[in-house]
Amino acid sequence: MKKYSKKEIKIIQDFINTNIDNDIKVKTDIEYSCDMYEEIIYLGPKSFVCESFDNWFNQKFENGEKYNKRLIAILHEIGHIMTLNEETQDDREFRYALLLLQVDNISIDELNYQYYEITAELDATTWGYEFYKNNYELCQELVKELNL
Ligand SMILES: [Zn+2]
Repeated sequence: MKKYSKKEIKIIQDFINTNIDNDIKVKTDIEYSCDMYEEIIYLGPKSFVCESFDNWFNQKFENGEKYNKRLIAILHEIGHIMTLNEETQDDREFRYALLLLQVDNISIDELNYQYYEITAELDATTWGYEFYKNNYELCQELVKELNL
């Protein structure tokens, strides 16, 4: 997975502040995550994007193959902020904990698929997909600029 330079983080920050929300901040960390309450997204070398995510996404969303999954991963974290509601956030943590209890009984792919379908996760991904779809040219320029 990609490690972002300071210059790239600045490009992403400007993109978000210009096109999405002026208050969201971008920082680096080990993995992708977000602090919904402080409105910060963290980007790093580790992300949930993998073969099972690609397969799931391409089946779930119309023309899924047209969408760069690394940009989807960034938009997904923003999506958590944009779709925040306390009910789904609590539900997400509860369901994730339940999923982890079954880890011995199901395959990694199956675990991943169930994780992507948790309401808060699906809401965040769907938000990212919709934004990308509605701003396709703009998003593809960012993909090129960042060499995603
Ligand atoms: Zn997520």
